[in-house]
Amino acid sequence: ASFGFQNVPEEEKESLVKNVFNSVASSYDLMNDATSFGVHRLWKDNFVDSLKPGRKGPMKCIDVAGGTGDIALRILDYAREKYADRETTVDIADINAEMLKEGFKRFKKTMYHNTPQVAFHEANAQEMSKFADNTYDMYTIAFGIRNCTDIPAVLREAHRILKPGGVFACLEFSRVNNPLLSTMYDQYSFSMIPLLGTLLAGDRDSYQYLVESIRRFPPQPEFARMIKDAGLTTGEFVDGGAWSDYWGGIAAVHKGVKL
Ligand code: SAM
Repeated sequence: ASFGFQNVPEEEKESLVKNVFNSVASSYDLMNDATSFGVHRLWKDNFVDSLKPGRKGPMKCIDVAGGTGDIALRILDYAREKYADRETTVDIADINAEMLKEGFKRFKKTMYHNTPQVAFHEANAQEMSKFADNTYDMYTIAFGIRNCTDIPAVLREAHRILKPGGVFACLEFSRVNNPLLSTMYDQYSFSMIPLLGTLLAGDRDSYQYLVESIRRFPPQPEFARMIKDAGLTTGEFVDGGAWSDYWGGIAAVHKGVKL
């Protein structure tokens, strides 16, 4: 398969994306570590640290495109370890049942299994009608929104299900500004990631798609504008701007608040 998506109709894109994650579900965590040398773990730690879940009391959270639960688990651990909070809850929503299954297996080994603190939902970020308006204190999406074919729809739904005062937070691969770093990063991601995909997961195309999806995602200022357009205020969180770059923009965190 080729993942030059430009000429593919919207509905087909969605099923292509679903297939990509079906075929990588079981090897997903291993590949994440291999392709980013484990750095995604640090980014995710920083991301959750910056949100301080539980600081102002128990929160109702939703982690969209939550996959195998990396962010959800960090949120629950953070609230418990820092604030002895065992009442914060996270709903994990993902379009792909295989990813959710892996997540479920993983949570089975934790103290959160069989508690009201975690629940799994098969859902498309663009159409979240099974979740009511004004429900959540926090909406997170990590390395997920770039796979969605209609980003404004995702943001609209995020805004709808957040409570007034609720926080939207997105961790995503983004645009590297430094030209030298940018060249090195391009070399690495265009050649090494698909190669590692072949070696470790036997699946070059899916990882090729992941690399291409990063290139297509809007740069920081444009994405910040889209968040604002969805009615989420940005800027008051992050020093000097509406987002903060991780590693020169290889990844970036954007936040917004529903007024
Ligand atoms: N958030 C997890 C993490 O950081 O490890 C998983 C990230 S993984 C790269 C991307 C996830 O997005 C996959 O689990 C995939 O199934 C999910 N996804 C893709 N398109 C989606 C959509 N339209 N709605 C919900 N989830 C989606």
